[in-house]
Amino acid sequence: MSDEPRDDGFDDLLDAIADGEGFYVECDEGHGSLPPRLACPQCGSQELSEEPLPDSGEITTYTVVTVPTPQFDEDSPYVTAIVDFGPVSITGQVQGVDPEDVETGQVVGIDVGETVTRDERVIVFEPR
Ligand SMILES: [Zn+2]
Repeated sequence: MSDEPRDDGFDDLLDAIADGEGFYVECDEGHGSLPPRLACPQCGSQELSEEPLPDSGEITTYTVVTVPTPQFDEDSPYVTAIVDFGPVSITGQVQGVDPEDVETGQVVGIDVGETVTRDERVIVFEPR
């Protein structure tokens, strides 16, 4: 594990996803967002509740990274994708598939993995 200070809200989310209990935050107007939140980023409502994240989402956009920053040196090539889970979109790394086989619209599940280079926890998507 890294020695980086914990980013509480985000690490809580990673813990929850690792336990298969990923969640997002929904305000009383039905806007979804990712924790940590004190108020809805769309309407400012502070009436927030935690809702379970759907099991799978669809890749809406992705980038194959072949020349990474040093932080991800040994992970390359890897694919960073934005996945649409309905109420929220989440950015993470696509694993378990050849970078050339990743495509828009692909259905993926969410999990937590570690980067090869620094063993830092990252959100991971794997094809379903
Ligand atoms: Zn809202």
